Order: sequence, then C-alpha cells, then structure tokens
Amino acid sequence: MSSLRLHDSLRRTKVPFEPMVPGKVGMYVCGPTPYAPAHIGHAYSAIAFDTIRRALTFLGYEVRYVRNVTDVDDKIIKRAHETGEDPVALAARFTTAYNEDMARFAVQPPTVEPKVSTHIAEIVAIVEKLVAAGKAYALDDGVYYSVDSFPAYGQLSGVTRDELREGARVEVDSKKRDPADFALWKTAKPGEPSWDSPWGKGRPGWHIECSAMTTTHLGPTFDLHGGGKDLIFPHHENEIAQSQGAYGEGTFARYWLHNGFLNFEGEKMAKSVGNVFGCDQIADAVGGEALRFFCVSHHYRSPVEFTTQAVPGPDGKPVMRFYSLEAADRRLAYFYETLARIDAFTSAKSGGDGGDGAVLPETEILLTAAVAALSDDFNSPVVMADLGEAARIANKLLDEGKGIDKGVRRRSLARLGRDLRTVGVALGILGSAPADFLAARRARQVKSLGIDTAQVAALMVERTTARAAKDFARADAIRGELAALGVELLDTPGGTDWRVLEASS
Ligand SMILES: [Zn+2]
Repeated sequence: MSSLRLHDSLRRTKVPFEPMVPGKVGMYVCGPTPYAPAHIGHAYSAIAFDTIRRALTFLGYEVRYVRNVTDVDDKIIKRAHETGEDPVALAARFTTAYNEDMARFAVQPPTVEPKVSTHIAEIVAIVEKLVAAGKAYALDDGVYYSVDSFPAYGQLSGVTRDELREGARVEVDSKKRDPADFALWKTAKPGEPSWDSPWGKGRPGWHIECSAMTTTHLGPTFDLHGGGKDLIFPHHENEIAQSQGAYGEGTFARYWLHNGFLNFEGEKMAKSVGNVFGCDQIADAVGGEALRFFCVSHHYRSPVEFTTQAVPGPDGKPVMRFYSLEAADRRLAYFYETLARIDAFTSAKSGGDGGDGAVLPETEILLTAAVAALSDDFNSPVVMADLGEAARIANKLLDEGKGIDKGVRRRSLARLGRDLRTVGVALGILGSAPADFLAARRARQVKSLGIDTAQVAALMVERTTARAAKDFARADAIRGELAALGVELLDTPGGTDWRVLEASS
C-alpha cells in the first residue's frame, strides 16, 4: 500500500490519507440533477472523480463509490410540467442518458447510485432524529434545520455567522427562526410529487438526501467526500451540519475533495455566453477519449482553460472548433500509433515479446513513477508526462534499437506496451484497441473535412495499377493529388493504408 497524501478541503492542506479500514475506501460524490441532457461541465466533474476512484484502485485500495442522483428537485418538477411527464420518470430518462454520456468518457458506473425517490424513508428518519434532538423544527411549509444549534457551522467554507445572515435571502412571510435556517422537508404543493411523513405530505429539501444516502450506503462516518468547488457552500456545509447534528461531532466525511472549474477563455461556463456544450457534441467532434485525455492532463483541483471558436465548415455553416480537445486528440493518436507499433513489433508473427528476462532500465520505471505521482494528491499531469516519456522511449527503441540485444529490445518494448496500458487504465485512457481508435478518429476527420472516401479509394487503386505498370511518375502524381485532398498514404507491411493529414493548428 502506498503512502497516499491528498488535499483535504476541510484542513486546507495536503494530509496523509488513512482510511477507516486499511486497504478500503468509502467514497461519496454528489451526482447529477437530471432534467436535461448532460453537458461538458457534468462530464468534467464526473471524469475528475472517476479518475480519483481509478487512481485509488490502481494504488491498491478497494473502493466503494457512491454517487447519488437527485431525482426530486425544483428544476425537474418545472421541466416535467413543461413536458407533461411524471417528474420522477423524467429524471429516470435523463439519468439513463447521463450514464450513457459518461460512458463515452470512460466514466465507470459507481458501486451504488442511490436516488432520492427510493430513499424517502431514510431521509424522513434522519429529519425525525434532528427534530427529536431539537436541531430542527417544523413549520406549516416544512421542516427547517436550526443553524444556531450547530456551532461548528462554517468550518468547511469559512463563511462566518454574520456573512451567513447577510447573505441569506430574506423570504417574505417566512416564519423561520433565523434567515440562515434551511429546509430539510418541504410541505407538498399542488402538482408536485410528494410522500407521507410525520409532517404531512411533502418532499425532501436538497441537502438532506446526501446525509441520508451516505449513512445508508457508507455509514454515519466514511472516508472521502467529493464534489465541485461550487458545492462547498451551502450544500456541503449543510450536509455536515445535518449529519453531525444527527450522529454527533466527528462523524460524516473524514476527508473532503473538491474539483476546479472549467473556464472558456477566461469565461465560466454559462448558457448566456453560449459555451454550454453537450456531451454528444463533444464526442461527435473529437471523440470522448479526447475530453478524458484533456481532463487528466490537468490536476483535478486546478481551474482549466478551454479554447473554442466557431469557424465556417466545409458547407459554409459554422462549426465549433474545440482547439484544446483537438490537440488532446492528436496527442492521443500518437499514443495509439505508438501502441500499434509496439503490438506489431512484439506480436508472435513478427518475433514475439522476448519472453522472461532483463529489460532496459529506462523501460521499467513507468509503474513506479505513476504510483508516486498518483500518491501525491492524484497528480495526473505528472503521470501524463511519464506516459509521454515512455512513448518517446518506445518509438526510439523501434526506430533505432537495432544495436540492442534482440531479446532485451523485444522484452523492453513489450514491457512499455503493457505498462502504458496499465497506467492508462488508472487514468481512464488508452483502453481501446489501437486500430479501433485510429479508424474512428479517421472517420470523424473524413466527416468534418468533407473528404470523399470513394475518390480516395479510386485514386489508390489507380496508383497500385500505375506502380504495377512501373509508371512511377503517375504513381507520384497520384500521391500529390491525394495530398491535395488532405490524405497521406502510409506504406505498411500489411499494404498501403492512408490517414488524414494533420492540420497545422
Ligand atoms: Zn451532496
């Protein structure tokens, strides 16, 4: 077991991680409120915590990962009224779509995915506990948490009591004892989904679900709690107040992890700015793995700059260019091309992997380096640099390794190929067969550049015929014609193939 250190938002510093049970981690992350298709911001957060979960697994921990679905919420109810659907059914539909979208970015399903609508009894039980302890009180319109009953309020966010009172929205006619008190249970309004409770028909407030779900699936105290930075206040602050109010001081999350924001050329993501890109739009443009690759190239706590521009497409209509992701896609292609070369070189047909025995020292350090970097607050950018170095060494060995002992060279390349993939799993990248990735990438490029593949095929046949007839002038001319179409020929041992010429940007 590694000695993992992580940045705990509560202690505001990097601390050694000591799980409650050695070798096991209970981890909770606040999940989606599904009322519309998922966008790049959802994907970014899901990827960040999926990478942390994968990294923990890679470091040898057995991870129980709970990510909830808020399927009872004002926004869902509003949307359901617009579409005429049942709110819980609408949320279920968008939850399925969310999980399909996240799968495009190699986000693994959580161990448990609890929903509010199936945890009402657990939510009611914790609210009852808080009322009985005098930490919450019932009014006509619901049950409220008394912030005054929890002196430690503000410990995570640093928000003071005065700031809290000043910032609280003053609600007209509210009978709340303090403007800062927040709803645990809301009395049913006509046309809203509702459930029976000791306070009449109603539905949960937003924050209480996470206190109920963590207790149900991880116990009153558990190891890691994660979410976006925007959730620190009030959501996570309220979660702490609720859970410690119900189960006592020192309970609930033992470490807090928060991920940074995605910025678009200095702007935050916002519908008004027009940069709320759908997951399908991203995956169609550059492939899901490019976004994953881009995300893990940055540290999860750092704000990330994302560059885009609308430019005229082949048919004159504007097309969104995702420059950051296109760069990630090119780099990813380099890794897959490297893996394809290693596979071809070490296949049984071309001489094998060299069996057991010594390898070059520089080819056996990747795993150890990845363990060290991921043990340092999940430092994925350092791992990405290590992967880049391993790929560089592999290509050098393939290009210039003739002077090296045959067995050592084969074993070294096989080792690099295996370790590149193993470390790739820890980050959620390089999981495809290289031929599949490269074919899908070419299909996307062909589509976006409007390349006529039938014309390419015809020119290639003509070139083969010309070469067979020793008409090399014509064969060369055809190579030039293909280049003008944006196509580059590749003469490989298996015959002639082609790829799309990389844009210079
Ligand atoms: Zn939550």
